[in-house]
Amino acid sequence: MIVGVECTAHTFGVGIVKNAKILVNVRDMYRTETGGIIPIECAKHHTDVANRVFESALAQAKQDKGDIKAIALSNAPGLAPCLLAGLRFAKGIAKELDIPIIPVNHCVAHLEIGRSAGAKDQVLLYTSGANTQIIAFASGKYRIFGETLDIGIGNLLDKFARHTGMGFPGGPRIEEYAKKGKYVELPYAIKGMDVSFSGIQTRLQQLYAKGESIEDLCFALQETAFAMLIEAAERAMAHTGKKELVLGGGVACNARLQEMCRMMCEDRKASFSCPDKSLLVDNGAMIAYTGEIMFKAGIKKKAEDVDILPRERTDDVKVTWR
Ligand code: AMP
Ligand code: MG
Repeated sequence: MIVGVECTAHTFGVGIVKNAKILVNVRDMYRTETGGIIPIECAKHHTDVANRVFESALAQAKQDKGDIKAIALSNAPGLAPCLLAGLRFAKGIAKELDIPIIPVNHCVAHLEIGRSAGAKDQVLLYTSGANTQIIAFASGKYRIFGETLDIGIGNLLDKFARHTGMGFPGGPRIEEYAKKGKYVELPYAIKGMDVSFSGIQTRLQQLYAKGESIEDLCFALQETAFAMLIEAAERAMAHTGKKELVLGGGVACNARLQEMCRMMCEDRKASFSCPDKSLLVDNGAMIAYTGEIMFKAGIKKKAEDVDILPRERTDDVKVTWR
């Protein structure tokens, strides 16, 4: 039994996995009414809820602490205070139970859980708050074929939401408004397989100040930014010859983004899959799931040898288990 701890940003989560089966996936998310994430506050949230989330995961899975083989921890990348809160918690348990820690890169976990639905060799369109990347496996690493040159797609949504007083997270609220909106032109910036969102952000704020309707701005935001992602993902599929697309990260919860992926894949006779919502958002189960694969490949560390790596990139990780 492997316990996974997620702590990289807004969510503290604990998942339990046994032989690739997810027994439980418990999470507690830091939210705000108006502003964005304040890292120190968010870390305090993680420390406050950690024990309760952990105990509740064990109880729901009807598992005994003593049967935990290792703690998988999302030690990278993320907000340093949040990572430290998670590290402190994981080290506490690892020392108490005398078990090792498996350091898991959060982005790689989004990828591995994307494969759990059956895709063999996919292109992953990874759409998170802070990260937006088009990734595929090649020569021992998850290679980044394209990525955002500035902010992540989720940050674009959240920044606009914050600017207009919607609070965090903005994505689901924007999705609702967009249902009643119509198209307005926004900058469309794609360079090869890289995308840039800051021009859209500026233009949205200008149009909002001029009194453009929030519904129309939300609709245009989704149509424009998602189209850029689909174009980059399609180019990566054409370039690599891969026939499977998997969508991941919190923004993948968006029904319109999923629909656009499905249409593009139908056009090029490729398959499209998207994990369940509970596995798309940040969660402990994907950390446990990836941790178990790594553990079986012999990857583990003594608690005292594990540190946080706030800036570790997806393509820094040597994927020795594939
Ligand atoms: P992550 O960083 O992967 O945890 O994802 C969090 C991001 O997902 C935040 O930026 C949210 O605004 C965004 N998000 C969550 N649900 C939706 C949705 N239905 N549509 C668009 N974005 C969403
Ligand atoms: Mg994430």
